Amino acid sequence: MEKDNVNALENAFKQFDEAARVLNLTPNQVAMIKQPRRVTEVKLPVRMDDGRIELFTAYRVQHSMVRGPAKGGVRFHPSVKVEEVKALAFWMTYKCAVVNIPFGGGKGGIIVDPQKLSVGELERLTRRYAAELEDLFGVDRDVPAPDVNTNAQVMAWIMDTLSMHARGYVPGVVTGKPLDLGGSRGRESATARGMVFCVREACKYLGIDPGKGRVAIQGFGNAGSWAAKLLAEIGFRIVAISDVNGAFVNEVGIDIETAFRYNAEHRGLAGLEDAVKVRRLDDPMQLLELDVDVLVPAALENQITAANAPRVKARVIAECANGPTTYEADGILAKRGVFLIPDILCNAGGVTVSYFEWVQNRQGYYWQEERVLRELERYMVESFDAVLQASVEHKVNMRIAAFIVAIQRVVRAAEMRGLYA
Ligand code: NAD
Repeated sequence: MEKDNVNALENAFKQFDEAARVLNLTPNQVAMIKQPRRVTEVKLPVRMDDGRIELFTAYRVQHSMVRGPAKGGVRFHPSVKVEEVKALAFWMTYKCAVVNIPFGGGKGGIIVDPQKLSVGELERLTRRYAAELEDLFGVDRDVPAPDVNTNAQVMAWIMDTLSMHARGYVPGVVTGKPLDLGGSRGRESATARGMVFCVREACKYLGIDPGKGRVAIQGFGNAGSWAAKLLAEIGFRIVAISDVNGAFVNEVGIDIETAFRYNAEHRGLAGLEDAVKVRRLDDPMQLLELDVDVLVPAALENQITAANAPRVKARVIAECANGPTTYEADGILAKRGVFLIPDILCNAGGVTVSYFEWVQNRQGYYWQEERVLRELERYMVESFDAVLQASVEHKVNMRIAAFIVAIQRVVRAAEMRGLYA
């Protein structure tokens, strides 16, 4: 696992370096925008239900605050490593720049398996994290959000802790909150919805009819389960889904409504065979190699590598997850004509609606869902078009094109701000 996590940062920097070469960035420009600005590690003592005090290691990385406050999720996972958090924070900077929202990039993580904690332990851990890093967070400084294994409830605890310390109500300090606490309509499904807009545009460009398209989805959490539901809604047949418990296939199409409900009720897909018509794959990684039109990685990093990329049959890869494809795999897929919609564009719907949430919190005025979806569509389609155009113009794949669009925006802002002292 160590190796994979180190790879995430190496992977991120290789993507950056290739785009920087195309743009002829100077060493001074690279020095200003490539490395994370602040990396914080804290130890969090938490009283467990049995009276023991357990010490958890946690991080917050602020990669960039050049275009706005640092923005990015907090991940609870046993394999969190600081190098992985740095990579995820880096991607946030360029994701916010691709969709042109006024944020920098950040990411947080706690080394913990939340499934092994009671709700009370999870709340105490979350509150301690927020309190310990209070000096970093703020509406104009750094705004966390959900990521793997964190959700609206966790965001509510962070918001409450920071509001208690501020002696007031500060909803804009975190996004992805419950609706009753200043969350935005449409946030829960936003990451997947943004991806669906990108897939729709890619299908138009490639001449794929969604009504005849087949899809495989890896991961069935917030991003993956909504991806399945929304792609099915526009006509795609979902033939394979998976989560940490295994991968499930039905060539005729999985009953996604039932699978969605099953997943919510059972907090996972274990035992799905008993609820809908599916067969379990012996090796869940086979899902990535199925004969489908669209493959949606929506779990963790480094899933499509040089080892399996030659066997990927999808025509389109829509990266809902962050960093699911290695730099080497990108090269192999591009040569084979696979159209890859890169993470920093494809999953930017989540942070875009987080931006809408932050705007609504600051104004104290809340939008109807219809407005959220309309504005999200505009941001995603304009960004997709800009990236596609850069890809054609510079003769590079969509990933490098996305970095080209984003890096130009970050460099311009960094140079205009200049260096303090
Ligand atoms: P989540 O915790 O809600 O779900 C993660 C899912 O992945 C779960 O279904 C889990 O069982 C599954 N999973 C874990 N390991 C797996 C494995 N080895 N094989 C197959 N499935 C596995 O997390 P999420 O919010 O849906 O995030 C998923 C990915 O999307 C992450 O890379 C995250 O950074 C990215 N992302 C999420 C958002 C968001 O708004 N939630 C936004 C942008 C990007």
